[in-house]
Amino acid sequence: MKEHLEHKVFQLISEIADDSEQECYVIGGYVRDIFLKRPSKDIDVVVVGSGIEMAEKLANKLEKKAVLSIFKNFGTAQVKTKDLEIEFVGARRESYQRDSRKPIVEDGTLEDDQNRRDFTINALALCLNKERFGELIDPFGGLNDLKNKVIRTPLNPDITFSDDPLRMMRGIRFASQLGFFLETNTFEAIARNKERIGIISKERINDELNKIIMSPKPSTGFILLDKSGLLELIFPELVALKGIETKEGIGHKDNFYHTLLVLDNVSRQTDNLWLRWSALLHDIGKPRSKRYDKKLGWTFHNHDFVGMKMIHEIFRKMKLPMNEKMKYVQKMVLLHMRPIILSEEEVTDSAVRRLLFDAGNDIEDLMMLCEADITSKNPEKVKRYKNNFKIVRNKLQEIEEKDRIRNFQPPVKGEEIMQTFNLPASSIVGEIKMKIKDAILDGVIPNEYEAAREYMMKVAAELGLTPPEQR
Ligand code: ATP
Ligand code: MG
Repeated sequence: MKEHLEHKVFQLISEIADDSEQECYVIGGYVRDIFLKRPSKDIDVVVVGSGIEMAEKLANKLEKKAVLSIFKNFGTAQVKTKDLEIEFVGARRESYQRDSRKPIVEDGTLEDDQNRRDFTINALALCLNKERFGELIDPFGGLNDLKNKVIRTPLNPDITFSDDPLRMMRGIRFASQLGFFLETNTFEAIARNKERIGIISKERINDELNKIIMSPKPSTGFILLDKSGLLELIFPELVALKGIETKEGIGHKDNFYHTLLVLDNVSRQTDNLWLRWSALLHDIGKPRSKRYDKKLGWTFHNHDFVGMKMIHEIFRKMKLPMNEKMKYVQKMVLLHMRPIILSEEEVTDSAVRRLLFDAGNDIEDLMMLCEADITSKNPEKVKRYKNNFKIVRNKLQEIEEKDRIRNFQPPVKGEEIMQTFNLPASSIVGEIKMKIKDAILDGVIPNEYEAAREYMMKVAAELGLTPPEQR
């Protein structure tokens, strides 16, 4: 193991530990990630004694190369260098009360400290004292679990999860992130303790949810969330997508599993968290817009619009950011049918200009989402859709080069309309502006000032307006 502790900082900590005659270990995520060959910058160090004192001594040795922060209330301290963040804590024993995930903390041994860890793979410790430098302390068979890709709690999972229910989310997140399996007993304990998630803050839940969404194959995490019953509690709108209803022998697809397929598809193409969220939410309006029509079968008319409308409430309730990120997701959900409809009809310049205008700089993201949305099992259909999208993409490029619609600014501004006709700010100004915009998007006039000015005069005349100097 020594070769993984080559960084000079481990040598320094080792010397300090021996000088002050205290046991000292690297523990948790950093050790796990050594074995997983995932380099990380966050190092957790446990001292059987005072973590804060150890951090102070290290910061002294490093002088100007380090920044020390002390969190007295938590009994922890952090030393930050240009490439590492080292967290020091005294070994502790924790005991929990029923209504809080904040434990009562006492000084303890290394063993106590390993007992309070969430999973066996997160409880591995490497000794830093000189005599035992690099020795692995693995009381729960964490190394074996790493090899077998197993997530398992070190103690009785019912106690581990009930003590701190966030661990249920963490367990599913690790399974999704690492492609590991939740050991049966551990998984069943999550299902049994799911209601305990109620004491966890929305922000903490979102941190884990986002990590699941950012994992290589996010469906893994969502299927586990669903099967354990957690999803129903933290995100009921997704569960509402589940199931297939049949009438007169006609069924529709299961929109939950379809959504997860789309999410996985998008995730192969992008690390954009909010595009992945858009994939997760793209069909969220379907349960509310589902109808059965004798002629058409199952329809989900306007589910794009209904879905877009639901997002504000979902973001508010879940305490997701209600800023431009939410606006972006709303836009993606609202527009996600447009390229498909477009590709099913004849692709006209006018329709493409409107799509470019509405999507703006997010047009590539939208196209990516729409392509990921093709989950049909009929290869003929898939081929046709993909081919149509190619036509749409070509046309988008052609029109953008020609007309520059993407960051469209109307060539005649509202102020100019007001000045020319001596108008106050009013709805008629808006109407003229909109007519000019429509004329450009429909290709009636080019996207240029002269043409737009001329068109403004024409529209105004039709509305009975004349410039003052001609009156
Ligand atoms: P990541 O950094 O990818 O989020 P991690 O396992 O390193 O994963 P941290 O939050 O950095 O997670 O925590 C470091 C270590 O602290 C963990 O490996 C684990 O041993 C312990 N730990 C963190 N959160 C908990 C918890 N809720 N319950 C028990 N132990 C925890
Ligand atoms: Mg970490």
